[in-house]
Amino acid sequence: MSEASVCLNHPNTSATHRCAVCRKPLCDTCAILDHGAAYCSQQCRADAIRTSAMVNQALDAKRRTSRRACIRSLVVLIILAALAAAAYWYYKQNTETVNRQFEQIQKEAQQQLQQGKHAIEEHTVNRKSNYKKQIESIAND
Ligand SMILES: [Zn+2]
Ligand SMILES: [Zn+2]
Repeated sequence: MSEASVCLNHPNTSATHRCAVCRKPLCDTCAILDHGAAYCSQQCRADAIRTSAMVNQALDAKRRTSRRACIRSLVVLIILAALAAAAYWYYKQNTETVNRQFEQIQKEAQQQLQQGKHAIEEHTVNRKSNYKKQIESIAND
């Protein structure tokens, strides 16, 4: 810390500050104090102000962009939710109609199946009784 502890402009005076921009060691006389930071020259001070302004601008832009992105995603979310709700409502409306039609078809199919069963049963019973009759007639002869 031998070099750093001495002011760059006054080799016999110990440095108490460092320039916030170029890191030069400075004594109380040389340091330009501004908002708690020390600068070796007005040039460095102006640079620092310009840099901080640029940083603030960049941060502002970033904040604005992220806020805009946030709003955009929120809008998208709302649209998606509305679409989902509409789709669900439409599906629900449709399901009721489809279900009613499906129940009707199922009922008719069951009736037809029942009728078919009866027909098959009757047919089988008739054939059986015919066969029985034939056997009986043969036996009786
Ligand atoms: Zn000095
Ligand atoms: Zn400087």
